[in-house]
Amino acid sequence: MKTAIITGISGQDGPYLAKLLLEKKYKVIGTVRSYRCANSKNLEYLGIQNEVLIEELDLLDMANVIKIIQKYKPDEIYNLAAQSSVGLSFDQPLGTFSFNTASVNNLLESIRLLGSTIKLYQASSSEMYGRVKSMPITLETPMHPISPYGVSKMASYFMVTTYRESYNLFVCNGVLFNHESFLRSSNFFVKKVIKDSIAIKNKKLDKLVVGNLNVKRDFGYAPRYVEAIWKILQSDNPDDFIICSGKSILLRDVVEYVFEKFDIDKNLIVENKDFFRPNEIEEIYGDNTKAKEYLNWQYDYSFFDVLDILIDEEMESLC
Ligand code: NAP
Repeated sequence: MKTAIITGISGQDGPYLAKLLLEKKYKVIGTVRSYRCANSKNLEYLGIQNEVLIEELDLLDMANVIKIIQKYKPDEIYNLAAQSSVGLSFDQPLGTFSFNTASVNNLLESIRLLGSTIKLYQASSSEMYGRVKSMPITLETPMHPISPYGVSKMASYFMVTTYRESYNLFVCNGVLFNHESFLRSSNFFVKKVIKDSIAIKNKKLDKLVVGNLNVKRDFGYAPRYVEAIWKILQSDNPDDFIICSGKSILLRDVVEYVFEKFDIDKNLIVENKDFFRPNEIEEIYGDNTKAKEYLNWQYDYSFFDVLDILIDEEMESLC
C-alpha cells in the first residue's frame, strides 16, 4: 500500500485528490495548518472524512516537516497548500510570497536532507506566465507574472526545477490553469456567479456585482484535473506538465450563460471598478498536448459542460 501526504487538504483540490488516492488504495494523510481552525466540510461533502488521517503541519517550520515525513515515510507528497487567491495577493503580497515560497523550500530541503526517494508534486499555476506575447502557453513560454501570487508560484516553480536538476530528486511541477468545482470557495469568480445567481433567482439578492468581465480565462473541471496531478507522479521520470483545457472563455460569457440558465435579466449584472485588480491578464490559454501524450490524460469538456455540472450540483446541495 502506498502512502501519500496531501498538504492543503481543506481546500478544493485536496479532497478530490484524496478521494482518487483512496480509490487507488493509498493510505492518505491530509495536513491542516491547525486543528483549531481545520475545516473538514469538503472532505465530508465527498464522504471521506473518516478515511483521511488529518495531521497538523506548519509548513513554515522545517523541523515539523521533517517530523511528519519521518513519522509516515510517504511515497508521495502533494503540496497543494498555498495562499491561492490572486486578488488577495495584492492585499497580502508579503504574506502570500513568504508562505508560498518558504513552504516549498522546506519540503524540498527536508526531502534532500533525509536523502529520501519521496516523490513531490508542487501545485504551480498558469498565473506564473502572466502577460505573454504568444499563446497557447507551453512550458517554453517566457514567464512574466503580474501579481504577487504569480511571482510566488514562479519562485517555487524554479526551486523545484533547481532541486531536481541539482540533487536528482523526483520533484515535479503541475502547472494548472483555473479549474472549478462545487468545492471551490465562494470568493472565486465562477462559484460566486453561480451562488449569487441562485440567490437572485430566490429573491435573496438584487444584483450580481463583479469585477472586470472583459477578460478571458482557460477554465477546467477540478475532479478531472486531479487525475492529471496523480499521473504526474506516476511518470517514469520527474518532469513538469501544463494541465489546462486549451481554450479560453470570456468571463462575460460565463455570467451570461448562468443568467440564461436561471432566466435572470442581464441588466442585473453590475461591473464594479472597486473589484478590478491593479493589473489583469487579458487572455490566457494553454497547450495540454504534453500531458495528453505523456500522461495519457484525457480531457475534452467545454466550459459550458462544466457550468452545467456545477449549476446542477449547487442546486442539488440546496435540496
Ligand atoms: P484552495 O481551495 O485555496 O486551498 C488552499 C489550501 O491551502 C487550503 O487547504 C488552505 O488551508 C491552505 N493554506 C492557505 N494558506 C495557508 C497557510 N498560510 N498555511 C497552511 N495552509 C494554508 O486552493 P485549491 O484550489 O485547492 O488549489 C490547490 C493548489 O493549487 C494551490 O496551491 C493553488 O495555488 C494551486 N492552483 C490552483 C488553481 C485553481 O484554479 N484552483 C490553479 C492553479 C494552481 P485553510 O483552509 O486553512 O485556509
